Amino acid sequence: MNAPANPWNLLRDDVRAFVARPKKLFIGGQWRDPVNGKTLEVFDPALGTRICTVPAGDAKDVDLAVAAAREAFDNGPWSRLNPSERGKLVWRLADLLEANADELAQLEALDNGKPVTDARGVDVAFSIELLRYMAGWSNKILGQTIPLSNPAEFHAYTLREPVGVVGQIVPWNFPLMMAVWKVAPALAAGCTVILKPAEQTPLSALRLAELVQEAGFPPGVFNVVTGFGETAGAAIAAHPDIDKVAFTGSTEVGRLILKAATGNLKKVALELGGKSPVIVFGDADIEQAVAGASSAIFYNNGQTCTAGSRLYVHRKVYDKVMEGIVREASALTIGHGLDPATRIGPLISAEQRDRVADYIEQGRKAGAQVLTGGGSVGSAGYFLQPTVLANTNAGMSVVREEIFGPVLCAMVFDDDDIDSVVRQANDSVYGLAASLYTRDVSVAHRVAKRLKAGTIGINTHHVVDVALPFGGFKQSGWGREMGYEAIAQYTEVKSIGIAL
Ligand code: ADP
Ligand code: MG
Repeated sequence: MNAPANPWNLLRDDVRAFVARPKKLFIGGQWRDPVNGKTLEVFDPALGTRICTVPAGDAKDVDLAVAAAREAFDNGPWSRLNPSERGKLVWRLADLLEANADELAQLEALDNGKPVTDARGVDVAFSIELLRYMAGWSNKILGQTIPLSNPAEFHAYTLREPVGVVGQIVPWNFPLMMAVWKVAPALAAGCTVILKPAEQTPLSALRLAELVQEAGFPPGVFNVVTGFGETAGAAIAAHPDIDKVAFTGSTEVGRLILKAATGNLKKVALELGGKSPVIVFGDADIEQAVAGASSAIFYNNGQTCTAGSRLYVHRKVYDKVMEGIVREASALTIGHGLDPATRIGPLISAEQRDRVADYIEQGRKAGAQVLTGGGSVGSAGYFLQPTVLANTNAGMSVVREEIFGPVLCAMVFDDDDIDSVVRQANDSVYGLAASLYTRDVSVAHRVAKRLKAGTIGINTHHVVDVALPFGGFKQSGWGREMGYEAIAQYTEVKSIGIAL
């Protein structure tokens, strides 16, 4: 493990200054203390020490934020802004993220624990790209003219209007990026937003609010309420004046959101768990498969909803592939996220580390063989070694349940009958992502078509792009993010008919 004397010495002045500023809620264009005056503590997961506190907002603050967002949507200047002006504001926000990219990346590394190079190269870079992509849609959201079957003479057309006030609840694994995945299309479509970041990682959302203010969005268009899920989050999900709730997080909480939304039947978008399969066929390019399968599970410490956590390898290449993955896993530099040499940071919390360690233990007891890893690292922070389990099978909890940590379960398949491996890959309540490695074009397309998942990678795993719809089949969720699909899902279609 890499351990610079005090990693916080690496902090930039602007990050220090942000951390030192008193944290408030951003409501109606103003910074406000929470009504109840409570705070929650934010920790550096690599050291286990406190960074700062932020408001623990609750239902009362959500009420205020919803009132501000409602007013902005129904009567504010935002509601009269032409779509090009709206797009320009979203684009300006992207420019501001870009101008502050290194600061945001450090803040994210500090708060979440991820390597600063990943934060800069993926989280922040993708957020900027997505804001620009969505800004471009603002003035291209079209209705249709539709010829009717009615015997009378009609002129009929549709309008796509913003869905309204949107509550967005995001997790801690990619704090800024998960927020921007939701905020960018909502703003581009003309909605107003109440964002609740995860209690573990609220900092980049508060910095985002500062940049929203600097970009010049009218008050109430974008609001941030930091706080716990059971209080602030639950209040958003249940709020009668919110038109849509968009959630990314656990399947368990997704169900709670859905139940809470029944009161006013608000629209619900859910991006939930996964247990994504990776299939390596006997003819695969071994190097490519090893690199792909390793990053599928170890990227972001496996704290990725698309993590490739179930690996199916053809017996012909099994030894070589496993040898390669074990080599890659043990070569990853573990350390503090602020250290540019770090490839793997800590897990998000002690609770999460213990959960993952418990899964590894369950796997061991059920007969899995630990090929590498399996233990914790160092004495401070929430570190766990990248872990590979072999001899696993479909009956084990490690194969069935989402672990959300750096734990790969490997299984071998024998015959060249693709039916059986496809059946195993699809044997999950989840269906977020899947990938396969082969040089055979027909196997690639046939298998891609039969896998039940929202995103399929061929000779690659994490296929995520600003222009590509992303979301889950089965219990991995409802709806899609990114691409035009995301814009469409922040709009309502209105049909208008004129009797000529
Ligand atoms: P994890 O268990 O990995 O932290 P969660 O699904 O619990 O993931 O959290 C994702 C987001 O959902 C966080 O912002 C969290 O505060 C929020 N959340 C948790 N519980 C609830 C709830 N009952 N209602 C609304 N939001 C919640
Ligand atoms: Mg939870």
